[in-house]
Amino acid sequence: MPSATKPLTENQLHVLAALRAANAPLTAYALLERLRVWGFNAPTQVYRSLNRLVEVGVVHRLESLNAYVTCTDADHCTFGFTAFAICDSCGGVEELIDERFTASLAHLAKSHAFTPANATVELHGNCGQCADDRAPGCKSEQALPINDRNRIDE
Ligand SMILES: [Zn+2]
Ligand SMILES: [Zn+2]
Repeated sequence: MPSATKPLTENQLHVLAALRAANAPLTAYALLERLRVWGFNAPTQVYRSLNRLVEVGVVHRLESLNAYVTCTDADHCTFGFTAFAICDSCGGVEELIDERFTASLAHLAKSHAFTPANATVELHGNCGQCADDRAPGCKSEQALPINDRNRIDE
């Protein structure tokens, strides 16, 4: 990551700090609201900072939520290949870091003569806490209500 050598600007640091403080995924617009105190007044300012933070490797973009989260483990995160568990009940997001996953995805792509630039897997469902609340003592049926609900939403 060659651009990581260039220091972050003040705006970028504000965006990063706001995201860290939220400790949850935020959209650019939600960030803008939190950053007005620092003189931010246009979404483009936020987007510009976010793009740089993603490029540098401290923030991930969650496509399915159109939101951003800070990387939870920059030392082990292989930014090209990342996975997130997104709870549809409480909105909690956990970054899943696993070397075997990364290696197997890279291997799979290679076996198809494909050179991937990046991949973000976004798993939707229930976190452990919400799954327990939803179906106490019955783990096997947890996946069903979520699928039904998604179908209705569409
Ligand atoms: Zn990460
Ligand atoms: Zn949850």
